[in-house]
Amino acid sequence: MSQTPIPTYVDTRKFFLQQGVICGSMSLERLPGFRDCLIDDEASIQIQLRFSIDESQQRLIQGTLQASVHVSCQRCLQPLAIELADDIRLALIDNEDAIGTLNGSWDPWICADHKLELAGLVDEQLMLCMPIVNLHSAGDCPARINYSTRANADSVGGARAGDENPFAVLKALKENNATD
Ligand SMILES: [Zn+2]
Repeated sequence: MSQTPIPTYVDTRKFFLQQGVICGSMSLERLPGFRDCLIDDEASIQIQLRFSIDESQQRLIQGTLQASVHVSCQRCLQPLAIELADDIRLALIDNEDAIGTLNGSWDPWICADHKLELAGLVDEQLMLCMPIVNLHSAGDCPARINYSTRANADSVGGARAGDENPFAVLKALKENNATD
């Protein structure tokens, strides 16, 4: 594991031609969006990025991101340690018009000038690989026992009385307001 902080930006005019490699860590202070998804600042984030140009002059960034972080369990709201790992396959383009020219196996990354900000790229890619649902495994979750007891009771008793569709409630409120 490399503890070397990765640079703030790379000069895209040189770095792809030189087939540059970036390998190191990044602190959460530089990743505000990803940090917002986490419950604390105890994190280890490792980044490996390889820059290249293919035969069609497309500028490519390939690599991996790995992060060990803490989120809150959506069942008990207690801390939960998770490991994220993501493969990066990005093609650097100057503007949105170039998206249509990309081969389907590459995701576009727009960079209008020659300074490619690495923190912004890492921040967005880490947010994209966050799981939609974070839960302790059944045996580790303090809320699990209560939860399964209640779920069983519900299925025995049939439909749950308190479980009104929130959208139906909202619609009814709107309709009431409209007639006032
Ligand atoms: Zn839990």
